[in-house]
Amino acid sequence: MTFKDLGLVEPILDALDAQGYTDPTPIQEQSIPILLSGKDLLGCAQTGTGKTAAFSIPIIQNLLNDRRKVKGRRRVKALIVTPTRELAIQIGESFTAYGKNTGLKNTVIFGGVKQGAQTKALDEGVDVLIATPGRLLDLMSQGFISLRYIDYFVLDEADRMLDMGFIHDIRKLLAKLPDNRQSLFFSATMAKEIVDLSMKILYKPEQVVIEPEQTTAEKVEQALYFVAKKDKPKLLIELLQTKPFESVLVFTRTKYGADKVVKLLKRVNINSNAIHGNKTQGARQRALTEFKSGETNVLIATDIAARGIDVSGLSLVINYEIPNIPETYVHRIGRTGRAMASGVALSFCDVDERAYLRDIQKLINQTIPVVEEHSYVDETPMEESKHKPKAKKQHNHGRKPRPNNLRNSRGEKRGGKKPASAKPRKSGVSNDASTKPKRKFTIRRD
Ligand code: AMP
Repeated sequence: MTFKDLGLVEPILDALDAQGYTDPTPIQEQSIPILLSGKDLLGCAQTGTGKTAAFSIPIIQNLLNDRRKVKGRRRVKALIVTPTRELAIQIGESFTAYGKNTGLKNTVIFGGVKQGAQTKALDEGVDVLIATPGRLLDLMSQGFISLRYIDYFVLDEADRMLDMGFIHDIRKLLAKLPDNRQSLFFSATMAKEIVDLSMKILYKPEQVVIEPEQTTAEKVEQALYFVAKKDKPKLLIELLQTKPFESVLVFTRTKYGADKVVKLLKRVNINSNAIHGNKTQGARQRALTEFKSGETNVLIATDIAARGIDVSGLSLVINYEIPNIPETYVHRIGRTGRAMASGVALSFCDVDERAYLRDIQKLINQTIPVVEEHSYVDETPMEESKHKPKAKKQHNHGRKPRPNNLRNSRGEKRGGKKPASAKPRKSGVSNDASTKPKRKFTIRRD
C-alpha cells in the first residue's frame, strides 16, 4: 500500500515525499480512507506510529477540496485540540510540512505567552487552528475565535484530556461546535471512560485500533532497577556517566523533582535542562530545541510537558520516578523507540513505588526484567514495602554489587550472550500468573 493508493492528491504526495515517508504506517493506512470519506473516527494507536499524519493528511486533502469549491475569506475550518503546548507546536509543524504545497494556513495557540502574535495570525486568516483548551476558550470569549465554521474537529491524546481535568473545557467547546462537523478522537491508550465518552460525542464512529491498550511501545527494551530513594541520584549519575547514549529523557513526577535532578547533575558537570509546567514557554521551547539539536543530551521532564514530544533518535528514557498512572508509563517509554527506531527504557523503583509498578505490569501484561546487579541494589524485603505485594523480592545473594552496563543502542548487538550472574529475574512483584516477560534484556559486564 502506498500513499498514492490511498487516493491522496499530488501536492500532498509531494510533501510526504519531501518528508522521506515512503509508505503509510498501519494507523495511516486504516484511518486515511475513513477520514477522507467524511466519517467520524475513534483511533487508538501506540505512540510513535504516525497518528499525527493519520489525521492531518486527510484534513488537508478535504480542506483543499473544500477550498476549491468555495472561495472567499479564510475561516477556521479545522480545529485540533491537544493537552500540551509542545504537542500543539509539533502538530502545527506537521500541518505545515504536509500542507506545504497547498496554500492552506495553520496557526497554533496556547497559554503561557502573550496573545498578541496569536490574535494577529488569527486576524490574517487561518484554515487550521491547533490549540490547547485554556487559551482557546480565552480567545473565544474575547471574540477572536469563532467555531461556527468548523468542519473538522480533532481531539488528540483524548484520554489525557480526561486525566488532566480538561473535560469541562472540552464540554464547553463541544457546545460551540456545529453539529454537522466531522470529529476524530485520537489516543495512544484507550481507557474505558474515554471510549464511553467518545461514543456519546462522535457520530457513528469507525474505530481503528492498531494495538491493544495494554501494549507497551514495540521495540522498546525495558529494565527495572530496585533502588532506595536516597540512592536514585547516585544511580542516575552512574548510568549517565557510564552509558554512551546520545540523548536521554529523564522523567520525574513533580516539577520540583525535575529541577532537583538538574541541580544534582550540574554538580557532577552533566549539563541538562528541565521542562515542566512552571517554566516559561520560552524556556520550555529552548530546552526542547537544544535537546532536539543535540546541544544538551539530557532532558528532565514531567509528564505534562513531555506528552507527545517527538525527538528522533531518542535512545534512552529513564523513569527516575515511577508514574502513579500506569498508562503514563506507556507514554513515557513511547518517547523512545519511535517510528521504527529501537530504544531502551530504564525505571528506578523504590519501596514506595512498588504498587505503581504492579499496576504498570498488569497494564502492559509484562514483567519488566530486573537488573539484578548494580551498585545501589535496594535490599529492602518486599514485606517492608508499604503496599505489601504478595511475592518476595529476591536478593543479591551476598554478591558484591558491581556497576552493570547495558548494551547500548549504537548498533552493537543487544542480544548477546548473557552473563549467568546478570540474568534478569522476575521483579518479585505480585503479578498475574499469565504474565510472561516478552522481551529479553541483555546486560553486559565490563
Ligand atoms: P506520531 O506518532 O504522529 O508522533 O509520529 C511519530 C513519528 O513518525 C514522527 O517523527 C513522524 O514524522 C514519523 N512518521 C509519521 N508517518 C510516517 C511514515 N508514513 N513514514 C515514516 N515516518 C513517519
